[in-house]
Amino acid sequence: MPPTDFDKQLKFSKIQKFLGVVYPTAILLVTGYIVWVYVALVCVNSNIKVKNGYRAMGAGITFVILFFISVGLSYLSYFRVLFSNPSYCGDITLDYYDDTTTIFVCGPNGAPRICGTCKCWLPDRSHHSRVSMKCIKKFDHYCAFVGKDICFSNHKFFYQFLFYGTIASLFVLISTAIMYARKGEYRSLPGTWIFVLISSGFGVLFMGALLLRQTVFLLLNMNSHEGRKWKSKVYHFSVFFPEQMTSRVHVQSDPGDLPWDLGYSKNWRSVMGDHWYDWFLPFRRSPGNGIHYEYNPSFLHKMRLKATSTP
Ligand SMILES: [Zn+2]
Repeated sequence: MPPTDFDKQLKFSKIQKFLGVVYPTAILLVTGYIVWVYVALVCVNSNIKVKNGYRAMGAGITFVILFFISVGLSYLSYFRVLFSNPSYCGDITLDYYDDTTTIFVCGPNGAPRICGTCKCWLPDRSHHSRVSMKCIKKFDHYCAFVGKDICFSNHKFFYQFLFYGTIASLFVLISTAIMYARKGEYRSLPGTWIFVLISSGFGVLFMGALLLRQTVFLLLNMNSHEGRKWKSKVYHFSVFFPEQMTSRVHVQSDPGDLPWDLGYSKNWRSVMGDHWYDWFLPFRRSPGNGIHYEYNPSFLHKMRLKATSTP
């Protein structure tokens, strides 16, 4: 019997889940090795201890301290994502879709969205994850490097991990290059240093690119899922404005509309938190319940006009 779609999905999910264990293990081993090389060989042996008549103790100690701060925050954010519980939709009840809800994202037929696999109701901005095979609130993407769905409950920590990871990689790259340049006349470039330079350079490019992409999406209040081809994307909404309507109406947005864009500041705070220290510390989760999202007032007004002019 040929494999069904469900079998294929199950196989895909199992492979991704396996990689979701392999990648984090490899990341921890490689970064652990980099920590040892950077601290023991680059900073201590080559700068703090006297060797070949050269010593730069001040630079060595300063770099070790800054390194532990940036790497410590990177690991902390990484573990917050690694050990987070994705926000599943399984507990959402029908009450959310009572007839008085002003607006919600619906299917192309105007009815509330129901997941074909989980059979659960999908609130705004939630989607089915092909890897965990569950519906997730504000689903962003599945990240194999942490083996988790990035979503409402851990998006902030993921963003902080990219931020601190990029800073730590940049710091290691620049400080190793400086230390080598200052003592280059004394010795050749060892393989361990080359490894640190290449790995940190890769970290800067890879995490920096992801950070940039996530920053743009964050400032426009989109998740990666919504950001894909967003300039041509059209949403379906079920709307009900009781003062003008007697029943719900199905309307479509225009391509490029950003229904949840509340301006840079509010968009940022909706994920990173209201207090500046929350933006930097990976402790408190994003505000809200992961189900209800504030709509842009102009967008809401546009949908009202569309709905009331629909024959
Ligand atoms: Zn589902």
